[in-house]
Amino acid sequence: MQITVLKETEQDELRVALIPESIKKLVGMKATVIIESGAGVDSGANDADYQAAGAAISNDRAALLESADVLVAVNRPSEDAIARMKKGAVLIGFLRPLDEPEKLMPLLDRGVTAFAMELIPRTTRAQSMDALSSMATIVGYKAVLVAATYVPRMFPMLTTAAGTVPPAKVLILGAGVAGLQAIATARRLGAVVEGFDVRAAAGEAVRSLGAKFLEVDLGGLQTEDAGGYAREVTEEVMERSRELIAKQARQTDCIITSAQVPGKRAPLLITEEAVSGMKRGSVIVDLAGSTGGNCAVAKPGETIDRDGVTIMTPLNLAATVPVHASQLYSRNVFSFLSLMVSDGELNLDFNDDIIGPSCAVHQSEAKHPRVQAALSAALSS
Ligand code: NAD
Repeated sequence: MQITVLKETEQDELRVALIPESIKKLVGMKATVIIESGAGVDSGANDADYQAAGAAISNDRAALLESADVLVAVNRPSEDAIARMKKGAVLIGFLRPLDEPEKLMPLLDRGVTAFAMELIPRTTRAQSMDALSSMATIVGYKAVLVAATYVPRMFPMLTTAAGTVPPAKVLILGAGVAGLQAIATARRLGAVVEGFDVRAAAGEAVRSLGAKFLEVDLGGLQTEDAGGYAREVTEEVMERSRELIAKQARQTDCIITSAQVPGKRAPLLITEEAVSGMKRGSVIVDLAGSTGGNCAVAKPGETIDRDGVTIMTPLNLAATVPVHASQLYSRNVFSFLSLMVSDGELNLDFNDDIIGPSCAVHQSEAKHPRVQAALSAALSS
């Protein structure tokens, strides 16, 4: 069985799907691994490192696509690349199956079996495969660093001979994996931090990191589903949230937003008026740009200025930390692959409680019920 890794082709993508450490383990499991030449250079691994780990190197991208039994990627390959894959080949990567279901069509047409890292259940057994959490950790960390370089103040309180410098005030909206890492990073830099989330359970985590938790009256609403994710809340709760955030924003130097509801547009938490009320020089980093943004004026993929307030909406911050992002992603993918590879052969047990639910498409059909629903909605609109 041949496992193939290509150089990623999306703009600004510097990550690689497998690093030499994981390849060594796969070769130990009798798999054949072939890497496109140069695939790992931006992530700190050159061809010689891959060869030393037991991989073969090739420059022939087309032949690699045609011969792959398992193609391991970071992002969904292009339509052209998918069209070259073998019928029945397996693809593993971030495929955006719920956000862009229509883009799964080439995989269905080609009869590729595709596993989406986003669909891996967040259970204890699958914890080592949780690539969403790995990337969110990096994104939350980097968002604070990016913001800190834009804010015209220092983050820590400093007492100097020239007087005392007060600490920066940072507000984090959405206290999931990315938000909590942003809180921890801003705290390490010495900022005074506040966190907000509609899940009341997030309050304890926010406080344990030394930040203040902003609470909104939820009116008895159940805001968390059985999987620990946020539910969409009522317009009344959203309105109260926006008022509270607008009030806090006036005294804040930096806001980082990471609020998401799976499969829905990101909740709109910062209105245009709230941005107008912010101090000149303050910064918003909106991490929800790929699902529409948490800030009303955010432009996905761009950095804009609104009356002296900088609003940044980066779409792939994880790729700006390629060494550690690739390391974590590769380990997640390796854990997942080890469920399927035995004695050098591929063995897909769809009854397995991780393999089954993470399969987006198989034998030209959408396998996952949420993917089926998203795909039929996309195709009928
Ligand atoms: P996410 O990316 O889906 O959302 C980010 C945050 O936005 C969440 O905390 C959510 O509550 C919040 N949010 C949604 N709507 C909001 C609104 N209107 N206002 C303010 N905040 C809003 O979430 P995530 O980071 O992927 O994590 C979601 C949950 O899953 C968390 O409880 C996390 O602890 C849990 N989790 C569990 C595991 C595991 O058990 N293996 C792994 C990772 C995450």
